[in-house]
Amino acid sequence: MTIQNIISKAIKRLEVEGKLLTPDFYAEAFCKEATIANMNVEDCSHLEKYTSTLNKEFQKELQQYRIKTMSELTRFLVARLNRTNQSVCSETLEAQMLFTKRVLQVVSELHNKEASDLAAKSLVLLDSNPNIAQIEQFRQLWTNFITSYDNSFLQKIGIKDKKDLKKSIESIEMTCLESDPNLIESESMHNVASLLVSSLVPSIASSVNEKIANLSHKIRRKPELLSSAAVENEIKEAIKLRIALDKESVKEMVESLDGVLDKLSIRLIEMIERSDKSTTEIEGIKKELEKYNEESENSKVNFKLAHKKLYTLALALEESTKNLSTDLNSHNNEVKRLSKKIEKLENQLNEARAESKEDFLTKLYNKRALDEFIAVKEAEYERYNRNYSIVMLDIDHFKSVNDNYGHDAGDAVLYAFAKIAKQEARTVDIIGRFGGEEFMALLSETDAKGALIFAEKVRKHVQKAKFMYRGNRIEVTVSAGIGERKQHPSLESTIKCADENLYKAKKNGRNQVIYK
Ligand code: GH3
Ligand code: MG
Ligand code: MG
Repeated sequence: MTIQNIISKAIKRLEVEGKLLTPDFYAEAFCKEATIANMNVEDCSHLEKYTSTLNKEFQKELQQYRIKTMSELTRFLVARLNRTNQSVCSETLEAQMLFTKRVLQVVSELHNKEASDLAAKSLVLLDSNPNIAQIEQFRQLWTNFITSYDNSFLQKIGIKDKKDLKKSIESIEMTCLESDPNLIESESMHNVASLLVSSLVPSIASSVNEKIANLSHKIRRKPELLSSAAVENEIKEAIKLRIALDKESVKEMVESLDGVLDKLSIRLIEMIERSDKSTTEIEGIKKELEKYNEESENSKVNFKLAHKKLYTLALALEESTKNLSTDLNSHNNEVKRLSKKIEKLENQLNEARAESKEDFLTKLYNKRALDEFIAVKEAEYERYNRNYSIVMLDIDHFKSVNDNYGHDAGDAVLYAFAKIAKQEARTVDIIGRFGGEEFMALLSETDAKGALIFAEKVRKHVQKAKFMYRGNRIEVTVSAGIGERKQHPSLESTIKCADENLYKAKKNGRNQVIYK
């Protein structure tokens, strides 16, 4: 049958089936007729040819959708493609690519030379934008590797656990070390060498000596040298040298610090001696210390700290002296003026005191005046035989007045008592404050009895009087002792008698007068 016959049969078939003469229907009808006529037309096997290249799932789907023509296949694929999210595809691809690279990196670090070389080469390949053929080539190489890989050699050296090579090797190492003490020795030699090297580095001196550095290098490179006698001597020498260097450094530091301290103390003494120039002097010290600080820049931290402390000290000293001298200068003239004034006033006061006969508190005669009057009375007694009596009066428990009401109250009582005593005395009588709360009356032409009358009047008046201080009534009594001149060989014994009588009055219970 010719093609012409198949074409006319196909058209007839369309007429019989009531289909339009569209290219799709025509192609379908043509291929059916060609198959019947047992004619192999290439155009009719296109669909089959392409669907066979798709995966099984797609082929199943094509059957389900009854896809029979190329145009149906095309529509199906277009719809499929439209449903595929492009960005998800490329992200997935990228992630896979990165993942592959990491795996390859790991393999390149592992201990199989063949695998690690191949991994390294694969990594280069992936970075060079390879085409599918190149990728295929490498996939093949990996396939070759895995099919030909043989690790039975591990068994020869006693490794049974091939999954954990590291652990297996460690256990081999342990057995080796147990059987070979030399290995342990070399290991510990190595440790000893690094310990020794670090101990040789001077800890205080700032630089490492060349000799020490060379020896350290030598030992570090070849720890076995530690067992040689020559090196042993060298080490001994290096240790000595190291200690000497440190010692030298400490000595230098201490000397330098001593220098600073010496200078500082000398300057301080000078400064104190010439205190008016102190500020300039201290500034000098500060500059010197600054210089020391620069010099000691390369020294150790503690040393620097000491310098820093001294420097701060000098700064503080400078500051306080500056303030002090400004202060002193501004007040100096004022102080000079005031002290002159005080001196003048003191002199005036002393003169006034020397001249005064009056007790400043009670306004009675003072001790000096009493002494002068006694001398006159005594002279009159000796020349004219004019008798007189001495009355010693002393306020009772006066201390407790001060203690209970205060010193001001005590003063007020003394003042009030003096007024009473003055009131009770005659104009010719002399009354004075002998000291503290003790008073003396010199009564002219008066015997002991007369003196007793005077003293009793005073005593009674005091007892009755209301001593008031800041709203408080203070109970006051007085005791007295009398001495009559005529009854005694001398002035001294008369005074002594008055004193003794006063003492008796106190002893007898106070607030009384004793005259015998
Ligand atoms: P007695 O009865 O034994 O005399 O006891 P007293 O407390 O009076 O005697 P004492 O001698 O123990 O104390 C005297 C006190 O007088 C002690 C002293 O502080 C006080 N005194 C002395 N002079 C003054 C003064 O000028 N003003 C005041 N407020 N007190 C004075
Ligand atoms: Mg008293
Ligand atoms: Mg007294």
